[in-house]
Amino acid sequence: MSAVTFLWILLAVVVLAVLIGGIYFLRSRSQRAGGQAVLPPTPPAVQPPSGEPAAATTELETPQPAESVEAATPVVALETPEPTAGRMQRLRSRLASSQSSLGRGLLTLLSRENLDDEAWEEIEETLIRADVGVAATTEIVERLRTQTKVLGTRGESELRELLTQELLTALQPDLDRTLHSEGREGRPAVLMVVGVNGVGKTTTCGKLARVLVSQGRSVLLGAADTFRAAAGEQLATWGERVGAATIRGGEGADPASVAFDTVKEGIERGVDTVLIDTAGRLHTKTGLMDELGKVKRVVEKQLPVNETLLVLDATTGQNGMTQAKVFTEVVDVSGIVLTKLDGSARGGIIISVQRELGVPVKLIGLGEGADDLAPFDPIQFVDALLS
Ligand code: GDP
Repeated sequence: MSAVTFLWILLAVVVLAVLIGGIYFLRSRSQRAGGQAVLPPTPPAVQPPSGEPAAATTELETPQPAESVEAATPVVALETPEPTAGRMQRLRSRLASSQSSLGRGLLTLLSRENLDDEAWEEIEETLIRADVGVAATTEIVERLRTQTKVLGTRGESELRELLTQELLTALQPDLDRTLHSEGREGRPAVLMVVGVNGVGKTTTCGKLARVLVSQGRSVLLGAADTFRAAAGEQLATWGERVGAATIRGGEGADPASVAFDTVKEGIERGVDTVLIDTAGRLHTKTGLMDELGKVKRVVEKQLPVNETLLVLDATTGQNGMTQAKVFTEVVDVSGIVLTKLDGSARGGIIISVQRELGVPVKLIGLGEGADDLAPFDPIQFVDALLS
């Protein structure tokens, strides 16, 4: 080969190398600009505490640092959430209209001239259709039977009073429904929100943040539902509206890592309440236990979890109850949030949920609106039912 040919080959190789290098550089730049730009290629700022299971460490090694979405960006005007008292007044009528068939049905049946076996069967059916549950229905009907016999003549107001008492007893009005959202010694309270996908967890977190803000609390949200791509965005939007920041991980980030970062940030910022949204995609008990258990463990390395709220969809009836039981076996549920009561005439589910799970219903969701979450009050509930 002559020297000239050799030089030509050398030149061609150099040109080719420059071309390939250029293409590679341009491609990697456009990929970064395409979505991951918010995530600096450094390891997470906050590492989980040592001593976590091996699986945790492996997952956390991927560079998925939590990202804080600051609230009150100039484009979003801060809203002042409706105070709880006013909200209850407004929601009472919605509750009454969704559950009126149950209340009206029972009153009509009870006011029959002749309360024979058939009438009692119909009363039983009405209660079971409203998801009161078989055991509670049997008890209620038995007591009503005895009481109506004792009463003899039954006027409308007497029957109303009788039914009020029976339903109230079944709702266990003495259960402690306090929401423990205040931390101790200047440290935040930690609330975890759990439940199956689609029941309204993220919405509940957003609404609850509003309730807390309306009570003068500072709130930090943690988007540990990293499985559903839109959940973090959804939560951050809720937060922005009331001035609560949201800690998020990248898509597919380890939920425990996000929860850990949120609590750490909450302590540093000195907020009153940290609210953590979790994913409920796992249908096997072991998977659920692993994920939720891990989230709880890493949170508790820093602070105790004050409340674990299980969100249930009132429209799912007994199906929802079966799923709910799995959650109560996996985590220590301290309160139930019953959503979508506005779209269901099965308010009786409150009775069966509390009896079967042994956990009080603390909050109810009565619509998709921002202020459609209310503390559950048995007296107001029965009152709305029979009004
Ligand atoms: P998640 O998957 O459990 O986080 O569920 P989401 O919070 O995304 O809610 C699922 C759907 O339920 C959304 O369309 C919500 O607007 C709706 N939702 C949540 N709570 C209520 C409620 O109390 N009433 C009604 N009607 N819809 C609700």
